[in-house]
Amino acid sequence: MISTRKTTVNDIASAPASTIKAAASANIDYFGEDVFNAQAMRNYLSKETCKKLLATIDEGAPLDANIAGEVAHAMKRWALDRGATHFTHWFQPLTGSTAEKHDSFLELEDGKPIMVFSGKNLIVGEPDASSFPSGGLRSTFEARGYTAWDPTSPAFIKRHGNGATLCIPTAFCSYTGEALDKKTPLLRSLQALSKSTQRLMTCFKASPKKTTVTLGAEQEYFLIDKRFYLQRPDLYQAGRTIFGATPAKHQQMDDHYFGSIPTRILNFMNDVEVELWKLGIPAKTRHNEVAPAQFELAPIFEEVNLACDHNMQIMEVLRQVADRHGLVCLLHEKPFAGVNGSGKHNNWSITYGHGNLLNPGKDPHQNAVFLTTLCAVIYAVDTHADLLRMTVAGAGNDHRLGANEAPPAIVSMYLGDQLMDVIEQLEQGVPKSSKQAGAMRIGADMLPPLPRDATDRNRTSTFAFTGNKFEFRAPGSSQSCSEPNVVLNTIVAEAFDMIAEQLEKLDEKNFHAGLQKILQKIVKEHKKVVFNGNGYTDEWIAEAERRGLPNIRTSMEALKALVKEENIALFEKYGVMNRRELESRYEVNVEDYHKRVHIEGEIARDLAKNVILPKVVDAYSKALKTNEMALNQGFPGLDSYAKSLGEGCENLSGAIAKMEACLEKDHEDILDAMAELRKVVDGLEKIVPDDCWPLPKYREMLFIY
Ligand code: ADP
Ligand code: MG
Repeated sequence: MISTRKTTVNDIASAPASTIKAAASANIDYFGEDVFNAQAMRNYLSKETCKKLLATIDEGAPLDANIAGEVAHAMKRWALDRGATHFTHWFQPLTGSTAEKHDSFLELEDGKPIMVFSGKNLIVGEPDASSFPSGGLRSTFEARGYTAWDPTSPAFIKRHGNGATLCIPTAFCSYTGEALDKKTPLLRSLQALSKSTQRLMTCFKASPKKTTVTLGAEQEYFLIDKRFYLQRPDLYQAGRTIFGATPAKHQQMDDHYFGSIPTRILNFMNDVEVELWKLGIPAKTRHNEVAPAQFELAPIFEEVNLACDHNMQIMEVLRQVADRHGLVCLLHEKPFAGVNGSGKHNNWSITYGHGNLLNPGKDPHQNAVFLTTLCAVIYAVDTHADLLRMTVAGAGNDHRLGANEAPPAIVSMYLGDQLMDVIEQLEQGVPKSSKQAGAMRIGADMLPPLPRDATDRNRTSTFAFTGNKFEFRAPGSSQSCSEPNVVLNTIVAEAFDMIAEQLEKLDEKNFHAGLQKILQKIVKEHKKVVFNGNGYTDEWIAEAERRGLPNIRTSMEALKALVKEENIALFEKYGVMNRRELESRYEVNVEDYHKRVHIEGEIARDLAKNVILPKVVDAYSKALKTNEMALNQGFPGLDSYAKSLGEGCENLSGAIAKMEACLEKDHEDILDAMAELRKVVDGLEKIVPDDCWPLPKYREMLFIY
């Protein structure tokens, strides 16, 4: 009998060449056509209302509640014109994914159907939220939560085969006002950072301007043929392969990264981009990643709240379009052991008015602002490394961090040699006396030109300066962008305040000398977090320990940062999260971790016991029979082969029993038992006859599509 695996391979081999045709000419007029953006507002709203709404969106003016009715009406007309029959408040509960509950616009008036969408429908929703994780913030008897419209992220239309739904981005809170989602703390952190940036920039005599945090989130993912996926219960239940021997060839040849993109994949990417462009999501870059079957999509950076929403949409579109192409998009941090996992590089910067504060200066003034911002980030990252580490904790990312393919669990910063030199000159600079060789005086000196090309990038650093922004490389591919940016915004707000408080005490003529002193002190005390070497080496781990940098290896340990007293005080001071909210998040994350490990343990046991063991027993008895027949006919037998399968059966049964016993115990025991079971199973994969092996192999999933 031919195995299902082989049938799949044959099917893929004989699949007809794609008949997808490219459009005769490229145009992108449809960009944003499914978004209720400024253009749609102008078309559907009165001039006055449109102006008020845009002021709320662009300048953060408080929302005029009186316009909600008109906005809702306009939104409904716009949505109906695009075929939407339903609306939903679209939010991001602590599950890490998005949530929606659809209502149709339908109402009955004297028995006649009419389509209605009121101001109240737009502004608040009341989902019965008792089934969302809340970490004890809300028990079932007080189950109500509410969703509140976030006008700064535009409504959009989500289409499916034969219909469409108007989605309204919202924040999700308990009735007592506590955040139950990922968006609320982000919006609060933006307010905090805006305030501190304004305060700092006032010290530099800047007029009041809008602060914008920008985010460009690079998304890595794997694609495999859906038919293989459906034969792997570990993949469709846990998102990663729990078993699977490393194939002879994987990524050793460095031949996948930036390689020419296979046609089937390009067709997929093209469809993804069309979908994203319709949604106003500026997908920009596409390429092969390091591991076989691994790819990346990067959008043009946007305001961080919008960029976070867009990243959630990107993940969904990737999954949906993959399905249409007979593929599955794997967003897990480590779907395949032994090859690179997937991350989500978080490119972050702050803009004040139109100026990027992390842009090295063109004149001594801008220069001073840049160096101040840079030092503030150095201070923030060194002081709160534990919080940044916490934001990337998770059962999935545990398999990736520190595995010589992603930054280690140590948070360090890369500045590059030239910028490091500048920082050291700044440290040596003597404010009052004449300039020493190699010393820099702030407010008087220019920065040397800093390289900004990709060759100077250090890809092993957790947190790298890349010309005009910082790239936080530890976040996992499936994680929401919210947490890392909540923390970055809050800790930089604190650093700005700390600097502003000292600057405010200076009189004008001492300003630059005083600033220099402040920055010198920061550099002296915090440059230990800067490391420009290779972050993947053991030497760095030892060096980091000498420097006193925390190396928080596991998620469980990392999550504790959420409930440290000094961190609670910090988040409360900046109005980002209160004690109850932090404690609830801690609980939700710990529980999520435990559940995931437990589920994986059960999958491992089931697969080993019900799927793999019977095949090995089968192979063993066949080998015994063949052995006997051969000996009977006077041929040499297959003794050693049969023996290895026999031993395999025994080892496998032993490892399954151990796994079973561990399922009652702590997560660490489960992880150990899984590792042991995997070793046995992966060893057997290499000796059991290929056509009897029940699970698609790595060499098939990663190379045949
Ligand atoms: P690489 O893979 O070399 O790091 P990419 O081009 O894949 O670079 O991704 C860089 C990301 O950084 C893009 O999303 C880009 O839009 C974003 N980016 C560029 N400038 C800024 C900025 N000022 N703030 C935030 N993100 C930025
Ligand atoms: Mg990239």
